[in-house]
Amino acid sequence: KPIVLSGCQPSGQLTIGNYMGALKQWVGMQQDYDCLYMLVNLHAITVRQDPLALRNATLDGLALYLACGIDPNQSTLFIQSQVPEHAQLAWVLNCYTQMGELNRMTQFKDKSAKNVTNINAGLFTYPTLMAADILIYQADQVPVGDDQKQHLELARDVAIRFNNQHGDTFVVPEPYIPEFGARIMSLQDPAKKMSKSDDNPNNFVGLLEDPKKVAKKIKKAVTDSDEQARIYFDPKEKAGVSNLLTLLSGASGKSIEELVPEYEGKMYGHLKTDVADAVVALLEPIQQRFHQLRDDQAELDRIMLEGAEKASARAAKTLAAVYEKVGFIPRP
Ligand code: ATP
Ligand code: MG
Repeated sequence: KPIVLSGCQPSGQLTIGNYMGALKQWVGMQQDYDCLYMLVNLHAITVRQDPLALRNATLDGLALYLACGIDPNQSTLFIQSQVPEHAQLAWVLNCYTQMGELNRMTQFKDKSAKNVTNINAGLFTYPTLMAADILIYQADQVPVGDDQKQHLELARDVAIRFNNQHGDTFVVPEPYIPEFGARIMSLQDPAKKMSKSDDNPNNFVGLLEDPKKVAKKIKKAVTDSDEQARIYFDPKEKAGVSNLLTLLSGASGKSIEELVPEYEGKMYGHLKTDVADAVVALLEPIQQRFHQLRDDQAELDRIMLEGAEKASARAAKTLAAVYEKVGFIPRP
């Protein structure tokens, strides 16, 4: 089976964007692929985190992965910091990555522009850690949203460079483009993507949010001032409406082509009500399962330990090969 790897940062509560762009796809891949899914807490501290909040967001994330349908018996499910090989390989890859390459990363530009008081070196080298995450498992395919494609491209470049210098060491990973590749945009500013770490909570829908609040947020979503208030899909000209259609499609399972004719002659308010209902219906059973799992710390501990051991056993092999190739003497 092809190896697949992906992860979310516990940098806040996972959103409906993370669900539709990532988790939902991951769940569907478990049968046909050898999947590794992680919570990337090492990545999360590139932005200042409160330690207690980070711990809780990590456990919430783990329980949410499970509640959304990630099966730890089928997939390898783990917390990034519990597999030290990621950080170890990242150091080596830092030495095979050029400053100029990292300088071109748009996420670094965006995140450093947003947070000028903490432009740390980790934020800059985020992509080399992500490359390590992927390359250490010899992943063939990486399901990532649009926002991560540039990082994946860099991971490929670094893998090729290392292979050229030292002989075949890493599988060069391909992006996995899901059939339903939803990119969910911010509710109040549909020109930018929905992000869990957005300062304005009205921009995102958290997977654990109270359904009444979720419905309210969706009903307040920005649409446009098109006088005819027509409902059709055009992410450039009708960003807000298109985002609502994408959400409805993701939550209802109907395609956008199927949905659009249903709204002929209807108003934005109709669409919003339907989106709110569909999203709430999607979230309710997830939240129910989440609460059961989240209260069972012993079970979460068991899953974390098993996942970390499975992941470490695989990661250690690649790390040993890399250390040997660069000339590090193994500990006698
Ligand atoms: P942060 O704001 O802290 O960067 P995030 O919401 O962007 O958080 P990440 O942890 O960076 O989430 O990304 C986790 C996964 O979710 C990645 O595969 C990413 O491509 C996907 N993803 C993130 N935001 C969206 C979105 N708005 N629509 C679809 N997929 C998304
Ligand atoms: Mg992100």
